[in-house]
Order: sequence, then C-alpha cells, then structure tokens
Amino acid sequence: MFIDMKQIDRHPGSEFKRSGVCDFSAVLVEEIAPLPRPVKVEATVSGRAGLLYLTLSAEYDLVYLCDRCNAEVVRHEHQVFRHLIQDGYLDSTAAGDEDVVQPNPDGKLPIDDLLWEDIMLAIPTHKLCREDCRGLCFSCGSDLNQGDCKCGQNKQVKMDE
Ligand SMILES: [Zn+2]
Ligand SMILES: [Zn+2]
Repeated sequence: MFIDMKQIDRHPGSEFKRSGVCDFSAVLVEEIAPLPRPVKVEATVSGRAGLLYLTLSAEYDLVYLCDRCNAEVVRHEHQVFRHLIQDGYLDSTAAGDEDVVQPNPDGKLPIDDLLWEDIMLAIPTHKLCREDCRGLCFSCGSDLNQGDCKCGQNKQVKMDE
C-alpha cells in the first residue's frame, strides 16, 4: 500500500484518507510470524500549521512467545502511529522530535515498511502470556502455570530484571 502525494490537497484542515490491508504473514521473526493475518490500516494525511502529518490507524493480531513459559500468545491490537511527512514545504528545523518520513522521488509514500516498523516498536519489552506467569522450572522444564513440577524445586527459568 502507498499514498500518492500528488493526490494530497495541501489546504489547511483538509484530510486525505486511504484504507487497505498489509500482508506480513510471510515475515518471520525468530521463527514465528508476528503478524500472521492481514493488518487492517487506515492512513490519514492531514495538514496542520503548514506541516503534513501521516496517521496510521492499525488493527491486527500480534503473535509472540511468552518470555517466561514460551507459550504462544495472540493479542488483538489497535494502535495509532503518527509521522511527519517530509515534503518540499517542510524545513528540517520544523520537525522537532517528530518522526519524519520521506516520499520516494516519484511522489509515492510506501506504507508497508513503515507500518511494520511501527508495529514492531510497539511490542512490549516484557512479552508475557499473563502478568503473573510462573514460567518453566529451571530443573525439570515443567510449566509452573500447570501446577507444581515433578522435581519439586519449582525454579523459574527467567526472572524479571
Ligand atoms: Zn507465560
Ligand atoms: Zn521442576
């Protein structure tokens, strides 16, 4: 999916919307596909104070393995990501802390790579199946969420920092 910057009306207050799906089902990270189903996205380009903003509103199923017990977790997510679009009207000092994205020389702004990066950055640092996941026993490998383990040590593999 991409946005053709030539279609953008630069009048203040104007909005350009484009909806679509991005498919990342073939992209693997550490042997699992974090986004196995198509990601629904609505892209909005809006002008404010002489700047052009890109807002990506995304709905998707995020899959990851629990850091403690290795169980597969599927979370339905709805996230909104915002970027500033670099175009001829923007001088670099105006950008401030905003994340600036640049259209290709042909005036097309590709969405897929940007969205993938946004979603990956939004994954929590501690990926857990649930807050109080007990993890796996260090000695025997039993899933301590299923009850006490055979070896009786109940040692968790990974502790929080
Ligand atoms: Zn877990
Ligand atoms: Zn054990």
